[in-house]
Amino acid sequence: MALNLSILYRGHLASCNYGCPYCPFAKRHDSREALARDYAALERFLAWIEARPTDRFKVLFTPWGEALIRKPYRAAMIRLSRLGHVGRVAIQTNLSCNLDWVADCDLERAAFWCTYHPGEIPRDSFLDQCRTLERIGARHSVGIVGLREHLDEIEALRAALPPTTYLWVNAYKRVADYYTSEDIARIVAVDPLFELNLQVYQSRGRACRAGEEMVTVDGDGAVRRCHFVRDVIGNLYDPGFEQVLQPRACSGDICRCHIGYVHMRDLDLYTLFGDGVLERIPADTPIRAEAQQRLANMMLP
Ligand code: SF4
Ligand code: SF4
Repeated sequence: MALNLSILYRGHLASCNYGCPYCPFAKRHDSREALARDYAALERFLAWIEARPTDRFKVLFTPWGEALIRKPYRAAMIRLSRLGHVGRVAIQTNLSCNLDWVADCDLERAAFWCTYHPGEIPRDSFLDQCRTLERIGARHSVGIVGLREHLDEIEALRAALPPTTYLWVNAYKRVADYYTSEDIARIVAVDPLFELNLQVYQSRGRACRAGEEMVTVDGDGAVRRCHFVRDVIGNLYDPGFEQVLQPRACSGDICRCHIGYVHMRDLDLYTLFGDGVLERIPADTPIRAEAQQRLANMMLP
């Protein structure tokens, strides 16, 4: 039977041109040898996808660090986007790279998950990059970590982006009761789905598409159900690897990031995000009402 699989790919690359103070990859460098190993792993992954034209794939690159400053990843976006059996290829990026190459992608399939890091780039420069994506016609979401000291910045970003661009705000969850109700109201006015992200989902035993319809693959081909459950369930490059794909209940305690909880079945977020699950772009629905419905329906133990 033909596969219909979403893959979150995270290779060996672990370096970034930015210096975000909260990030272990800030200003980290990969050696020439480490980059060569990563590019070889990426090439193997691309060749594997290309060799399976009767299967259907969606791919999200979720690198440690920043990948689009590296030519092989820009080429990978172009290459995968042009494959008829790849429905979507998206990447998480700080959007600092030159964007001339984006027009070479098949824009029906390529998409960008763009994160703004205040302190690393002036807001206007980041917005110029967003305008370039807009001008090219590239699907993209824009987001930011919801630090309280950045609330004004978040609102300014919202005001400057076109209303059609979804701006997500990731809840800062390292400190309990971090937000006041006024903070939450301000952020919800920017991101109607913020309260979905604010949750820490008690996920153990709950049904999840991870491991069945979506998997995480690393540079060695190790397949895990998601980035958060570390058990290896198979290897992409083993013949017949698809036999590991089966319904699974979550074996972790909590799920707290969009790239995880969006796949939990009882949250029904595929309906809300439609075609934009991977790049985090909601379908064109009254999303505030939809979000409230999800929160009301939430089956928290
Ligand atoms: S841009 Fe992303 S990967 Fe780079 S330092 Fe900041 S948080 Fe880390
Ligand atoms: S609920 Fe979250 S942590 Fe559990 S398997 Fe699904 S994505 Fe992974």
